[in-house]
This record gives sequence, C-alpha cells and structure tokens, in this order.
Amino acid sequence: MSGSLSFDPASVPLPDGHLIAGELLRGADGIDVRAPSDGSLRGRIPEGDADLVDRAVRNAAHVQQTSGWATCPPRDRARVIRRWADLVEVHREELARLESLCSTRPIAETMGWDVPFTAEGLRFFAEYADKLGGEVAATQSDLLGMTIGEPYGVVGAIAPWNFPLVMGSWKVVPALVAGNAVVLKPSEMTPFSIVYLARLGIEAGLPAGLFNVVQGSGAVAGDALSRHPLCGKLTFTGSTRTGIAVMKAAADSGPKPVTLELGGKSPQIVYDDIRSVDDVADRVFRAFTGNAGQVCVAGSRLIVHRRVADDMVARIVALADKVVPGPTWSGDARYAPIISAPQAARIEEIVARSLATGAVAAAPLARSPVAGEGRFLKPCVLTNVTAQTAAVQEEIFGPVLTVQTFEDEAEALSLAAHPVYGLAAGVHTADLGRAMRAVRALKAGTVWVNRYGRSADFVIPTGGFGGSGIGKDLGRQAVEANLRHKSVLMAFGN
Ligand code: NAD
Repeated sequence: MSGSLSFDPASVPLPDGHLIAGELLRGADGIDVRAPSDGSLRGRIPEGDADLVDRAVRNAAHVQQTSGWATCPPRDRARVIRRWADLVEVHREELARLESLCSTRPIAETMGWDVPFTAEGLRFFAEYADKLGGEVAATQSDLLGMTIGEPYGVVGAIAPWNFPLVMGSWKVVPALVAGNAVVLKPSEMTPFSIVYLARLGIEAGLPAGLFNVVQGSGAVAGDALSRHPLCGKLTFTGSTRTGIAVMKAAADSGPKPVTLELGGKSPQIVYDDIRSVDDVADRVFRAFTGNAGQVCVAGSRLIVHRRVADDMVARIVALADKVVPGPTWSGDARYAPIISAPQAARIEEIVARSLATGAVAAAPLARSPVAGEGRFLKPCVLTNVTAQTAAVQEEIFGPVLTVQTFEDEAEALSLAAHPVYGLAAGVHTADLGRAMRAVRALKAGTVWVNRYGRSADFVIPTGGFGGSGIGKDLGRQAVEANLRHKSVLMAFGN
C-alpha cells in the first residue's frame, strides 16, 4: 500500500439519491454531506420523508411477494449473492473511493479491509441460503411435527456511519438470504457507498426493488421506517439512545422483532504475567485508536495490574506521539479523522469534564489540523480516574483510553463491570485458567483473549448484552433472525 492509492475527492461520481425499485431518485433540497478530513462539502442527499419511506416499503413488499425471490430454490439466491461478491471485488476501487470520501476510513483501509471484508461477508451469508432447516419431530408413528422458516416480508434496516459498507451489508444481506426484501436507511453522513453496493446487487441478479435505500435524517426517515406497519422486522446498528427509540417505535407499530447492535465501553484487562509488555501495549493501543476510537467495540478502558501499569502506559503514550494524520483520500493516511465537528467537540467536552474531576492526561487530546476544519484528534490517555469519571462511564467514540490499576483478580473483574454496556472485553494473560474465569465473569457479548478485534471469523456472531443490544450480527444466528418459524403438526390420513 502506498501513496499511489491517493485520489482527488472532486473526481468521484456520486450516487447521491434514494434507490427505490432500482431507480436513483435525486431531489432538489436535501442534506449536506461533508468530508470529515477537512469539513469540505462533498455532496447532498435528498431528505426522505414519511411518504417516500411509505413508497419504498410498499414497493419492496410488492417485489418480495411477486419476484419469486422468496420462493426460488435457495441455491439460486446464494448464486446471485456470490455473483454480487465478485462484482464488489471487480469494483473495489470505486467502492473504496466512495467509502473514503465522507466516512472516516482512509483509502488504504477501505481498499485493504472494508471492501474485501464486505465481499467476504456476502459469500459467508450466501452459504446459509440452503442450510436453514427447521425442527422435525417424528416420535409418533401417525404424526409428523416440523417447523418451517419463513421470511418476514420487508425488513427495515438502519445503519451507522462508522463502517458504512461493512455495517450496512451485515444488516441487509442476512435478511435477503432469508428471502426478505430490505429498505435500508444509511447514516446521513455516509450515504453514498451503500447505494453503489445496492446497484451492484441488481447487476448480479437481485430483483430491482428488493434492496432499496432511503436517504435522510434519523428523526424523519429513520423514524418513519421504524414505524412502518409493513416492516415485519427491524435491524438497527447505532447508539443505545437511538436503539431504544427504534424499539419503542417497533412496539407502537407492531409489535415487531428488533435486532439492536448498540454502544459499548469495553474493558481490556492486562494481568502481570504477560510475556511482553510491548506486544500487549501495541494491542491495547490498536484497540482504542483503530478508526480513531470510532468503533463500537473499542477497548477504551485499560484495567492493568499495578506491577506493569507504568511500563504499559509509557509505551502507549509513545505510540500516541507517533500518529500521523492525513486526509482519507491520501494513500499514506492510516489514522482516521473524527466524523463531524460536533462529535469532535463532544469528545473534547468529555475529556475536559474528566480532567476537571481529577483525571490526569498522560497523553493530551490534541487537535491536529490537516487542512480546513482539522477534525483529527491525537490519542489521549487518562490516568488517575475512578469509576465515576465521565471518560470511564460514557461511550466517547473517540481515541481516548482510561487507565485503572488493580492488585488482584477480583478487583480487576469488579473494575471491568459497567453499569450499562456489555459489548466486548479483552483479557491479556498467559494463564488460561485465569482467562476462562474472566470469560465467565464478564458481562460482554464478545470476549477476546490475548487478542483484540475481529478478523475473518464470520461464523462467530457479534452482539451485545444489556445496554449494548439484542440479537446478533454474523454467524448463523444473523440469518435465522430474519426468519419466523411456523409450526406444523401433520396427522397421516384424515
Ligand atoms: P446513531 O444512533 O446516532 O445513528 C444510527 C442511525 O440511526 C443513523 O442512520 C441515524 O440517522 C439513525 N437514527 C437517528 N435517530 C433515529 C430515530 N429517532 N429513529 C430511527 N433512526 C434514527 O449512531 P451513530 O452515531 O451513527 O453511530 C455510532 C453509534 O453506533 C455508537 O454508539 C456505536 O457504539 C454504535 N455502533 C454499534 C455497533 C455494534 O455492532 N454494536 C457497530 C457500530 C456502531
């Protein structure tokens, strides 16, 4: 990877509309879309209202019922989705550029990870198309009992801005594999790449109108989608506060099932038996600075044994000093900008509040202007914090690590517990017995031992406990959650 990946942001053609029934619908008025690297205006999207959402959902329901997608042999669905994955690879550059234009993802990352990872996810889900059998009970000789999985019809999907293609496709593809149509609302800050992806789906053979994209704000388009009576199921990834609003709308307009992938405040416990402080410090550093901390599972709370704490913090601070920001369209950039000016101000406000109550900045949260508005924040490390410190309690969604120390295992596990969130946790130790005790004790949907973060383990689902969500993305569960099971009891003869 090198500077040769660099591109001119002005040269990227924008699919800047809704995608309904395969048609790109542009509008005169709309929402400005800005690049986080420098705040520059990159395009506009139309603001979908309740009527537009209604049109998209009704059309999707019609296509789901009449196109044969739900009733064809499941292998046919798998074939289309695999072809779609191939097209994603063919159009890797276009997708990566669109993704790097207004999200926080540098072009080297979108070319090397986001787009290939999206294609792999498509292939993974496609394989489940014909492997979703139900239960069979044939315990009485004159009676057969079985369950049959059926699609909901239209699944309403709402996605966040932090990994628009990866998160968006994890919402959409399992629902399609299960035979549903989908109406997706992407984040208004990152609206373009998913429209390109949806068009590639049509080129691969998805019936036009099976996968639709409505653009607009959460308060208008997102709310209308959540409340639409023809959406049989909702799948949402975003903040806990919005997830609760989506669930209320689902109850008012249904009830209907919801999958919610929400926020986190994930701990990383480091014991004093680790073989290399430097290696584990690198791992901890990557876990809170990847995408500048704008990752739901960011390992943002370091809970470290007193004996290794000073060395560990010194190493992390040294790494923080080396971060080199650059615009997402530069092939040399690796460190992400903050998505928006209000979000950068919010991160600064939480850090300021923490410092005012006694926290000490071992590495200060520094603005690092690249050009224009300069929304890059250098990684910040806060020591001398308690469970009450704002930065320990609140999801920051920025490059901020808090450091708490412990003497023994019980203290470590007690510090790791969070009153609200239970998304992920990391445990770093050479003692697997100790690791398993932590795995059992931690309230977390995912626990990583001696690593942190996801690679290509699609078969292992992801999802949170408590305030971090309901249900799973990835794994077999993600596809099954898009089916409802009908029970059949059949007596032979009549
Ligand atoms: P957000 O909740 O602000 O927005 C998410 C989506 O919901 C956007 O498309 C937004 O327009 C829409 N929305 C906003 N208000 C709505 C409403 N009233 N009704 C319906 N839709 C509405 O979240 P964000 O800032 O885009 O993303 C960051 C959050 O997402 C963080 O909290 C992060 O932890 C979480 N996240 C979780 C996971 C996971 O897998 N658990 C993955 C990525 C991000």
